[in-house]
Amino acid sequence: MRLSRAFLPTLKETPAEAQVASHRLMLRAGMIRQTSAGIYAWLPLGWRALRKVEQIVREEQDAAGAQEILMPTIQTADLWRQSGRYDAYGPEMLRIRDRHEREMLYGPTNEEMVTDIFKAYAKSYRDLPRNLYHIQWKFRDEIRPRFGVMRGREFLMKDAYSFDLDHEGAQRSYRQMFVAYLRTFARMGLKAIPMQADTGPIGGNLSHEFIILAETGESQVFLHRDLLEFDVLSRPVDYQGDLSPIVEFWTSRYAATDEKHDEAAWAEVPEEKRVTARGIEVGHIFYFGTKYSAAMGLHVSGPDGKPVTPEMGSYGIGVSRLVGAIIEASHDEHGIIWPDPVAPFAAAVLNLKPGEAACDAAAERIYAALAPQAVLDDREERAGVKFADADLMGFPWQVIVGPRGAAAGRVELKRRATGERAEVSPEDAVARVRSH
Ligand code: ATP
Ligand code: MG
Repeated sequence: MRLSRAFLPTLKETPAEAQVASHRLMLRAGMIRQTSAGIYAWLPLGWRALRKVEQIVREEQDAAGAQEILMPTIQTADLWRQSGRYDAYGPEMLRIRDRHEREMLYGPTNEEMVTDIFKAYAKSYRDLPRNLYHIQWKFRDEIRPRFGVMRGREFLMKDAYSFDLDHEGAQRSYRQMFVAYLRTFARMGLKAIPMQADTGPIGGNLSHEFIILAETGESQVFLHRDLLEFDVLSRPVDYQGDLSPIVEFWTSRYAATDEKHDEAAWAEVPEEKRVTARGIEVGHIFYFGTKYSAAMGLHVSGPDGKPVTPEMGSYGIGVSRLVGAIIEASHDEHGIIWPDPVAPFAAAVLNLKPGEAACDAAAERIYAALAPQAVLDDREERAGVKFADADLMGFPWQVIVGPRGAAAGRVELKRRATGERAEVSPEDAVARVRSH
């Protein structure tokens, strides 16, 4: 993408309405545009970041054996009456009437719908286990939408639903998602800690929130230092094998949000292992047994021919919230610092003197070699503006092409995260960016 023609409306001023760093930076970097309270349009840079995050979520769900589908955003009230949640959900649900006066709603979650779909086909225990997920927009009429995309009213969520024959199977599905979540967030460069949670309106009796650590997080969290040191990506996972040792490691060490914090248990954690921090919830997993299957009449015939009511769980990830959360966890006073795996572009190629033959030739060549993973700043702007915008947009690498260097066959390569700079040949710059 050439910045001279791109729709990347960066702002110099700090928008007054934004209270947290990620919201400020997403507005300043031209990633999003609020269209009404808690509802955002995603502009080219934001949309690319969102898709990067979404793709990592998708790959890890697929690896864990979940299958992607796509359910609609609009649901019928009747479906929700079957579970009793139509009345229970309250004003967070956006209720709509169609032209025939039928009651509809914009889905805040999909337990009812997925159970209804599965019920239409699942007849016997051989149809189990299954895990179905989708990545779809949700609407919750939050009383106080805030912090930009981190607490919106319309937001993108990955929600998966597992169906199992019995309790043991359901625990296994839960562990598969537990481990998939650890990997998902680690791949985004985040430290995500599972913490025991209340099950809330979804109901059930086993639930973990995945909380990433960031100074501006909404909740206070308390955790054992070992959890920060565990590297979940160092070994491949066999999802068909026994995952309980991994889950056991995470659940046997202290980790709690302020809501669940237990002073007595905390006091038993050795002093040097105690970490307190702020956290942001990015995922939430639930096991709720037969709550929805029973209410919605999902039964299959068991191995002995007798009817069985499948055990279920649901597993959410806030895909759009994650874009904000990643920025909360990774920025400085100059702007965003994208972790490589979620960066909307790997590099910005800064042509400091457009129109100068050597600069143009070098910048175009590097850009062509890196496209589509790079932007080319070919605008008629001062060098200072280009440096500031590149830092603000936060791509992992900057390839700086100036007249003196270009004449000598050299460019400057800057790593956004560390500020390290090196003078290299254009070929080396391309090779180093590509190797990440
Ligand atoms: P919270 O406690 O933050 O209100 P929740 O517990 O209501 O969230 P879940 O039903 O567990 O949310 O939804 C799954 C995930 O969807 C959450 O972990 C979060 O990452 C994301 N999410 C929930 N509400 C919002 C929102 N209003 N805006 C953006 N993401 C959200
Ligand atoms: Mg939650």
